[in-house]
Amino acid sequence: MYGWTGKILIVDLSNRKVSIEDTDINLAKKFLGGRGLNSYFLYKEVKNRIDPFDPSNVLIFGAGPLAGTLMPASCRFTVTALSSTTGGHGDANSGGMFASEIKYAGFDNIIFRGKADKPVYLRIDRKGIFIEDAGELWGKDSWDTQAALRKKLGGEEYQIACIGIAGENLARVASVMHGLKRAAAKGMGAVMGSKNLKAIAVKGFKPLKVARSKEFADKALKILKSHIRGDMTLYGTTGGVIPEVKSGYSPASKNLQTTVFEGIKYIDPRILREKYITKVKSCYGCSISCGRLYDVKEGEFSGLDGEGPELAALWSWGTQPQVASLPAILKADVLSNRLGVDCIETGNTIAFAMECYQRGILTKEDTDGLELDWGNYKTVHTLIEKIAKREGIGDILSEGVERASQKIGKGSHEFAHTIKGQSVSSDMRVKHGIVLGYATSTRGADHLRGLLIDDVMPVEYIKKNFGEEALKSKGVVGKGKAVRWIQDITTVPDCLGLCKIFYILSAGYSVFTFSDFAEMLTLATGEDFSASDVELATERIYNVERMFSARTAGFMRKDDTVPERFFREPTDGGSSKGQKLDRDRFEIILDDYYSARGWDKSNGLPTYEKLKSIGLDDIAEDTRKFTDNYL
Ligand code: SF4
Repeated sequence: MYGWTGKILIVDLSNRKVSIEDTDINLAKKFLGGRGLNSYFLYKEVKNRIDPFDPSNVLIFGAGPLAGTLMPASCRFTVTALSSTTGGHGDANSGGMFASEIKYAGFDNIIFRGKADKPVYLRIDRKGIFIEDAGELWGKDSWDTQAALRKKLGGEEYQIACIGIAGENLARVASVMHGLKRAAAKGMGAVMGSKNLKAIAVKGFKPLKVARSKEFADKALKILKSHIRGDMTLYGTTGGVIPEVKSGYSPASKNLQTTVFEGIKYIDPRILREKYITKVKSCYGCSISCGRLYDVKEGEFSGLDGEGPELAALWSWGTQPQVASLPAILKADVLSNRLGVDCIETGNTIAFAMECYQRGILTKEDTDGLELDWGNYKTVHTLIEKIAKREGIGDILSEGVERASQKIGKGSHEFAHTIKGQSVSSDMRVKHGIVLGYATSTRGADHLRGLLIDDVMPVEYIKKNFGEEALKSKGVVGKGKAVRWIQDITTVPDCLGLCKIFYILSAGYSVFTFSDFAEMLTLATGEDFSASDVELATERIYNVERMFSARTAGFMRKDDTVPERFFREPTDGGSSKGQKLDRDRFEIILDDYYSARGWDKSNGLPTYEKLKSIGLDDIAEDTRKFTDNYL
């Protein structure tokens, strides 16, 4: 095969056995690779409502058919499992060098089944594939783990994905870490920890072949030359905070109680760049270099260094807990990365706990004597450690917002802002496109998939295809179709192993079309892909993920919603001050979305006929059984 390596590595941790299977070309064409194949495999492997930490859960790594090729930013891998935070479909994605190394080792996907009886790591190199003892790595943070493994294996060339202490302790907010980066979301690190799998170290040695190499290289060069680096190189994703600094409107503030944060001027990404950023850094094959290394040279946190922070970290450690100090935010960033927690779910959980404290639901007696006042960065730092170690109050908070609120009780659920069990980090109540994208995401609250963001969307494209009203923040007509389109187009890079920041976000959603991606795939794989083939594949993936979460977590229309606070309380800042989300209009755009997807409006699920029509006959039959049993 070209593009794809044609092989899948199966690792049976319970029996310490590895085996290799062929990648089914028909499945690869239907689901493209990366996230798409992972989602299909997850659907087939996990059939029932199980505890995410049950050994019958699987952990799947996937690199897409373009990962590791000459195509720019072909660096992303997806890790997929039954989510430890939501109980439904879970996956997370990271850049760096790991995806290309998986491909050079000869694999499209690695599927981990079962659970090792003691801590292990997987090693893949020229000598073979080995499940090794990880006793001496257990207890180390993610950066020390990678350094120790490289030293032990004698090679800087090994690319490593691992968990920190949070994953070992089954903190549901745990991430899978790679280099200084992370596949952060949906508790994938906790599932990895539940399998006693500390790390995967890969040193590839096989050539990767594309079918039409000359045309492929020409296409890659053309993209490289035409791509604009712009603000993403200067500020990384934190550039998103610059408009907030200018307007004073902060969408992720004080557990979403307000959209005003006076201290935002002190966490300006331009100050971050001037004072703390020392170098830019790239993932495999990327010309944007949105990664930035920082160094704190003076003050309380002098000597601190790391990579980032991302926009989400500025929200999680800055605006949400109201911390108006860049060095304190950088300290939280380092802690979260070393310990291996997702900054979004962890930061939101801390903000939720702070609101509980503000309202007297939690007191110092519950918090191990800590004062959970807004802006108290020392408390934020302590809580990150306690969460990763499941110590004291950290044991409850390590469960994430939804489950922590269930444990705390006392009416705290009113302030637990989640969608399908995953916490929300941003106010969206006056933007129907974002509301709909969040509400219908297949993996719970999600700022990365399918957000119809007013100021970056391709105006002419939306107008032409979905109508003028789809462009308006509070528009109704055409929103469903427009959100469906954004969800589908943003799925493609996840499947091919490309970076969404390069191909979608920094390109204003408009440069790369289904046709472009089809051309890249055709040149890489030698299989003929049309734009509609690629679009149809993304539709299949949305349907598979949807049905998986319905089966394992019971997610349906009732769960396609956003936090009650957005319906109940008007926003208090920015140009939309005084407005809240209208429930009737929300239900109308939700209906519109189901129509656009061809799903049953009564329950929000794909119909039998729909699934058959997109070539998912096996899943259509499951749906018939599922709906007979559950509805
Ligand atoms: S845009 Fe940023 S995250 Fe994406 S590949 Fe380039 S450096 Fe990595």
